[in-house]
Amino acid sequence: MIIEPGQQVCRQCGRCCERWGWGQEGIVEDLLPWLEQDRTDILQHVAISLSDGSRISGRDLLTEELARIVRISYWQDTSGRMTRKCPFFGRDTGGLSLCTIHDVRPRVCREFTPWNWQNTEFYGNCPACRDKSP
Ligand code: SF4
Ligand code: SF4
Repeated sequence: MIIEPGQQVCRQCGRCCERWGWGQEGIVEDLLPWLEQDRTDILQHVAISLSDGSRISGRDLLTEELARIVRISYWQDTSGRMTRKCPFFGRDTGGLSLCTIHDVRPRVCREFTPWNWQNTEFYGNCPACRDKSP
């Protein structure tokens, strides 16, 4: 990877996933690869609200119901209770954080680059952000 001057890279401390890896909203495009690849291991942790007011597990979602989705929420346990911890968060033997679904993680996670934010609440908490501060 080529690092441009001033560019920051994630240090894999995991603080953001631990702090904000739950209670996030998804988009329908997140679901498509999981459905195509039959990733019930992921879909079972997704809460989906449909336009008729029902709430189902992503595991039970049918392709023809995609147009009826009004909200996608991350994450829930297998019995449908919302969790306070992302089920896909882990650490390697060296203690660095890792996402066990990195290649197919949802957009909210893919686009998470806090060092580019003006968000002062987060700014002081991300080591990569801190390094960028004067
Ligand atoms: S808090 Fe910052 S450095 Fe730590 S894992 Fe998140 S983005 Fe990376
Ligand atoms: S899916 Fe991956 S990147 Fe997103 S909160 Fe969970 S561990 Fe972090």
